Amino acid sequence: MEQAMKTGLESWFQPLPDKQCPFCGHMLRQLTHTVASGETYLLGIYETCTCAAAQSEQAAAMAAKAEAERKRVEDTRASTVHALMAASGIRGRYASRTLQTYAVPPGDERALKVALNYVLKFEEQREKGMGLYLYGTCGVGKTHLAYGVAHALIEQLHSVICRSATDILLELRGQMDGTANGTEYETMLRYLTCDLLVIDDLGKQQVTDWSMAQLSTIFDGRCQDMLPVIVTTNYSDAELIERLALRSDKKTAASIVSRLHEMTYDVPMSGQDYRSR
Ligand SMILES: [Zn+2]
Repeated sequence: MEQAMKTGLESWFQPLPDKQCPFCGHMLRQLTHTVASGETYLLGIYETCTCAAAQSEQAAAMAAKAEAERKRVEDTRASTVHALMAASGIRGRYASRTLQTYAVPPGDERALKVALNYVLKFEEQREKGMGLYLYGTCGVGKTHLAYGVAHALIEQLHSVICRSATDILLELRGQMDGTANGTEYETMLRYLTCDLLVIDDLGKQQVTDWSMAQLSTIFDGRCQDMLPVIVTTNYSDAELIERLALRSDKKTAASIVSRLHEMTYDVPMSGQDYRSR
């Protein structure tokens, strides 16, 4: 005689003992399943009684299950946001610089609108590899706006890194010298692959051939992979080229700046007309 395979499903197909509804005493039917060929199999579960008490117990059980699932999804989401925040480099006083806490300076309503739209349409912009180029004089909230966009996108579960150009170069330099944690390669890889890279205060960093090469690698790599950057700077194009080309390599400096403009929307801040400066 052929022994049935032990699969744990044996109780399915077997008659279950009689069972009454604990609320109304109604005898519960064992559920069945009819296959395409017409055969009917007993299932290892009972029907749910149609009495109000049994129905409401079932509804409560389903609601509890849905709530547990919702909480599980929310917890996963919260821990993902937490991890993305930790990896973003947003900390200290920047942690509160969101789009909600951004106080719009007079004349910069458009900049905020562009930032909000950018967040709303980030998927589309990311496909195009387009970022933002925020420029204007000191203290007009460029950094706040850039970090605000970063915050909002992290909430949407995108990987974002926010750093000043100076800090990026210091980190890479430290890793080359062995004075900072991690390797230059790993750091560069993060800058080259995150969904959005925010480079704050471009033009303020110390310029050497080496730092130019690093920035060039970052911008070229992201441009080729169509990954967006948000740049903030105090300088006009001409000034930025001057500052990047301290060692007189104006051609490389100009190509960095023109590449940046190709991959960003111009966002003048503090009502400044950048082009006319
Ligand atoms: Zn019942």
